[in-house]
Amino acid sequence: MALINNMEQTQSFMKSLGFPDLRIHHSINHFDFTKTDRRILIIGPMGSGKSEFSARIYRDSEVAMRKSEKVRQLTTSDKVDRRNVFYIRSKIDDKRFAEYPANSIAYRGGYVVPGNNIATIEGSFELEKVFESNPTVGTWIIDEIEFFDERIAYVIDQYAKQQSLNFIFPMLILNFRKDLFNRTARLIMEESTDVFPLTAYCEHPDCIADSYYTYRFYSVEETECPALYFDPLIIVGGDRLTDDPKFPNYSTRCDHHHYLPGKEYTFMTLKPLGELAYGGNVKPLLKELNLLKHDIERSELYNHFFEKFIKVASPQPIMMDALKVSCIAEKALIYLFSEENIISAGQMQSLAKEIKADVGYINERLVENRKMQLADVDKES
Ligand SMILES: [Zn+2]
Repeated sequence: MALINNMEQTQSFMKSLGFPDLRIHHSINHFDFTKTDRRILIIGPMGSGKSEFSARIYRDSEVAMRKSEKVRQLTTSDKVDRRNVFYIRSKIDDKRFAEYPANSIAYRGGYVVPGNNIATIEGSFELEKVFESNPTVGTWIIDEIEFFDERIAYVIDQYAKQQSLNFIFPMLILNFRKDLFNRTARLIMEESTDVFPLTAYCEHPDCIADSYYTYRFYSVEETECPALYFDPLIIVGGDRLTDDPKFPNYSTRCDHHHYLPGKEYTFMTLKPLGELAYGGNVKPLLKELNLLKHDIERSELYNHFFEKFIKVASPQPIMMDALKVSCIAEKALIYLFSEENIISAGQMQSLAKEIKADVGYINERLVENRKMQLADVDKES
């Protein structure tokens, strides 16, 4: 595979993320099954072709498998054959590409079916079982590994040490907040040996710049409404545009068209309100949540946005559209509970009840973010 030496921009981007020194590749070569002990990251925003890349590796393996004994010798170590490719994905991601066969690696515009070499798992313990049942597999593609628990990074590390294997991780390295996705992503990144950075065109209609960023937005009555900074970290989206104000859409955007309102409010207002509640003074948080839920124009969030985005020399009305989405109070609660850990499950439960929150919505998000759910509250959804 050709190394790229002149991609200064990409290299400095990788460095800014904290990557170790590693090789950066063109993404157009066929996969080299003779090399071993590699941890290859395929990173890029949604729609940059990560799944298609995985499908291509599988197709390459089919070609390589038809080669002679000479090739077999180059691609095997003990009982492991690196042309034997196994594809793993997360259970929470299986809503995507619902129209394709369940046992396929699907991408926009097509799919491949890797026979029995595919599994949908919930976490690291299941992965250990899949490893045990497939001792001759030499190349493991683990899709969207950032959706799994941190333990998975160590499970892979231990297993990789025993054999001459390759691992491929098509993953989102950045979340919609442009932060490193999570600790699992960090751990996988730290052990990587190779990276294929994929980009996509900015999907804004006025723009054709290259982009690394995943943008989350809601569509409310055909208006693009940017996700707020404190929107739940993981919300599994479908592959089709949805107008349901509870479910986000994702697109790839350049820095300029990646709108992310509410970061200042999150740290200046919301988190301090949560800290007050943690200390026993729940009332100010309850008041703001009630306003977010039932009378948003009187909320501190609305006032902050009005000052910041409207009463200024160059107004940005699109930022106000972020307040048109539903379940903003629920999102604030989920953020304080599952990301900042500053309100307890009990507080979350009673606050949700007091503001007549959509508990169905809260619980779905907690499942996706691998957190305990609320119990014994009448469903309001
Ligand atoms: Zn753009």
